[in-house]
Amino acid sequence: DIEIPESHPRYQSLLTRHRIEEGVEKGITSRQGLIAQGRGEAFDYLLGERTIPSADEAARTAAAHLLLADQPVISVNGNVAALCPGEIVDLAAAVDADIEVNLFNRTDERMRAIADHLRDHGANEVKGLTADGRIPGIDHERAKVDADGIGSADVVVVPLEDGDRAEALGAMDKVEIVVDLNPMSRSAQVATVPIVDNIVRAVPNIAAHARDLRDAGATREELEAIVAEFDAAEALEAAERAIRSGSDE
Ligand code: ATP
Ligand code: MG
Repeated sequence: DIEIPESHPRYQSLLTRHRIEEGVEKGITSRQGLIAQGRGEAFDYLLGERTIPSADEAARTAAAHLLLADQPVISVNGNVAALCPGEIVDLAAAVDADIEVNLFNRTDERMRAIADHLRDHGANEVKGLTADGRIPGIDHERAKVDADGIGSADVVVVPLEDGDRAEALGAMDKVEIVVDLNPMSRSAQVATVPIVDNIVRAVPNIAAHARDLRDAGATREELEAIVAEFDAAEALEAAERAIRSGSDE
């Protein structure tokens, strides 16, 4: 294990990078996952490594969608599992969602390693290994999902989904919540709710908003109003402005 002094100005970023490295060593994260991480870091740097106000609003909207959902599912890939497994389990508990492993480069070994890793972090049931459902419109291997998981979900959280699958999932009439640091990525562009933030901040933030809304006794009508007020295009524009100006939007 490496030691990073907490006083280091890039402490969080280095810690995050180290978790991805460990994920690769444990067979949880793919080597392509390292490249995705590098891309994310660049955008996070430009955003000031913080949750911008529009991303916080998107996270609150995501929480409202999840509380309204009949069957919410949180999709987990190798980067998500390496970076925030406990936070995913906590979010699932906060909104009563299922967790499904969903990989772009699917191997049985990695599927099992990720499911075990999530169970080590407190998950009870982990879906994704049955793979008896398909997302229409994409090639066979990449289309596999659980029929009683993502296949029949009405709201899906797909942190770090690839553009093709994000598009195909959106076409299935699901509410799609995407976490992606790049507001110009297709995944962010096709989302019902794009959250332009690092997953290590966004996932616990959605859970905190869900608990706040629940504790405040928010009614269905109030949750629906939060959902209706949200403007995805405006959220993406705000994120792009924050990146370009380096200020608060
Ligand atoms: P497109 O969506 O346009 O098809 P892509 O999916 O091909 O782009 P990838 O490199 O496959 O691009 O995906 C990685 C995406 O995940 C990037 O947009 C990157 O910003 C984002 N990303 C990586 N790490 C994180 C993270 N920790 N938190 C949030 N987003 C991240
Ligand atoms: Mg993408």
